[in-house]
Amino acid sequence: MSHFLSTLRTRMALVEQRVTAACQRAARPRSDVTIVPVTKSLSVEGLKLAIEAGLDNLGENRPQEFWKRAAAAPNITWHFIGHLQRNKIEKTLPLASLIHSVDTIRLLVALDAEAGKQNRVSEVLLEVNASGEASKHGFSPEDARNLADAINATSHLKVRGLMTMAEPHADPEKCRPTFATLRSLRDYLAPRVLAGHEFRELSMGMTGDFEVAIEEGATFVRLGSVYFEGLEAS
Ligand SMILES: *Cc1c(COP(=O)(O)O)cnc(C)c1O
Repeated sequence: MSHFLSTLRTRMALVEQRVTAACQRAARPRSDVTIVPVTKSLSVEGLKLAIEAGLDNLGENRPQEFWKRAAAAPNITWHFIGHLQRNKIEKTLPLASLIHSVDTIRLLVALDAEAGKQNRVSEVLLEVNASGEASKHGFSPEDARNLADAINATSHLKVRGLMTMAEPHADPEKCRPTFATLRSLRDYLAPRVLAGHEFRELSMGMTGDFEVAIEEGATFVRLGSVYFEGLEAS
């Protein structure tokens, strides 16, 4: 077996142990948490090997790469996790099982209209800038509290919940308040959102902080480096 595959399989087993342990600490079933490996650092050859290793939910953050890769691997459950401009919606919608990163009302409205045009119901999450960093996309927590009407006004979207990115910290405990903020926003909005949306998901946690995110209620963790750092398919 190639170095790439054997290394990746070892890392997959370690990640699985860490996710399972975090679920246990939080008294949550392992099935609550979906791991979304983020393949942006991989070459196309690396992506093939990742799929061969058994990864089947994958995330990409750049539209052009997302389109190429999702079209080339149609049996994967593809997650779009990056900033999406409105002129990229049309091509993204048919390929994305879940768009994690709806960061404005304008984008939400445009996605709803395009999903209607394509005669589909698309699943999305709303991105919240829960850490308050100036450079980040996303609704402020204050604005997010007022989103129920906009969510309920959509007709071709299922708004499944919220997503955030914590500020990177050497000590992941420092990310806990950001994740707790997202969870309390979800808990505030859920009873105000129409039941058909099944508004309950929390996409939060990356390589540096995913265990804390799971302890705080993450249902999707988006993991890149912990799987793929330093791996090159030859
Ligand atoms: C790259 C990326 C990740 C994964 O980051 P790692 O720290 O490598 O795990 C998660 N979410 C988003 C939005 C990303 O762009």
